[in-house]
Amino acid sequence: LKSKLPRVGTTIFTRMSALAQAHDALNLSQGFPDFAPPARLAEALGEHALRGHNQYAPMAGLPRLREAIAQQLLLHRNVLVDPETEVTVVPGATESIFCAITALVGAGDEVIVLDPVYDSYEPAIELAGGRAVHVPLLAGSFAINWERVEAAISPRTRLFMLNSPHNPCGSIVSRADLDRLAVLAREHNFYVCSDEVYEHLVYDGREHCSVLAHPELRSRSFAHFSFGKTLSVTGWKTGYCVAPPALTAELRKIHQYVAFVAVTPVQHALTDFLEEQPQYPASLAADYQRRRDLFLSTLAGSRFSWTPAQGSYFQLLDYSQISDEKDTVLSEHWTRELGVASIAVSVFYESPPKQTVLRFCFAKSDDVLIEAGRRLCAI
Ligand code: PMP
Ligand code: GLN
Repeated sequence: LKSKLPRVGTTIFTRMSALAQAHDALNLSQGFPDFAPPARLAEALGEHALRGHNQYAPMAGLPRLREAIAQQLLLHRNVLVDPETEVTVVPGATESIFCAITALVGAGDEVIVLDPVYDSYEPAIELAGGRAVHVPLLAGSFAINWERVEAAISPRTRLFMLNSPHNPCGSIVSRADLDRLAVLAREHNFYVCSDEVYEHLVYDGREHCSVLAHPELRSRSFAHFSFGKTLSVTGWKTGYCVAPPALTAELRKIHQYVAFVAVTPVQHALTDFLEEQPQYPASLAADYQRRRDLFLSTLAGSRFSWTPAQGSYFQLLDYSQISDEKDTVLSEHWTRELGVASIAVSVFYESPPKQTVLRFCFAKSDDVLIEAGRRLCAI
């Protein structure tokens, strides 16, 4: 069989979680919380399944959930969206990102991605017949290198992939970055696919800058969100995409044949929870900042170096004082020998720079973070 994705294997997250399980390691590799979601959410799911909300929802999502999403965007972002024509509920942001790319990218089109880049984008671009043009983020700060972005733009540039808060780096974009992007998008007439799944996880008083709050970018962007992150239910695989009506119509044409709908009782449960506790997402930043700081405090005497994550639930640690081994080798070695699993950052680059950095997920319970820190300090 001639593979349509010859360079793709099984995702690093699947492989590292399996390795962690096989060696009974603390799993700080794949990004998911190891603690329970709000109890009310799980109760609501049971209630709706029992009450018989078990058949297909409308293709674009339950109207009551789309209304609750519009309320959330107004409350947390001061953004007005039309739930009817601009919000689509999807079975995870991965699906809506795939649909958005498929909607916009055709044979020969170029898509700018910023390395290190989340793993799901490029396969979708390739399957659509397009080509990812990789632009590295600035070493150290992981800020966007706008000179390099400008140099990478061509008449074939169709789409720009933005991800803030950033996975794996934990960096966030500023309002000035969005202004810069808006000027380029206007001048060169391309669209923006904005992955904002970690929107509520921003630290030290920083603010998330959404393309939806930027009047110019809003008119040419798909913005993707995930309840998996916001409500600690990654296994519920439910998110939503917000885009202007014309873009939403194209996204839905594809979504209706890729997945058709998201899971019905889950949509009801999410709606009940958001209606009852609309402020809940605003409490996440303090909770995750505490986990980040706890994890970093356990590493105080170690030879790792780091800059605290600005956002997301990932912390990068530089091990150059400890080893000059390749990150891919070391992450597997430490999973086996130390019992702490992480993700090698080089796997997210087209041309990995010479660096010695691993990604650790701190969406974990205190005892796991403390024990992981203890083991890492013992190196
Ligand atoms: N984008 C990024 C940057 C992510 O980290 C994730 C989390 N897996 C996703 C998209 C996909 O989210 P979902 O589980 O809702 O598909
Ligand atoms: N986004 C998660 C991470 O970065 C993993 C999701 C997945 O396994 N696809 O770890």
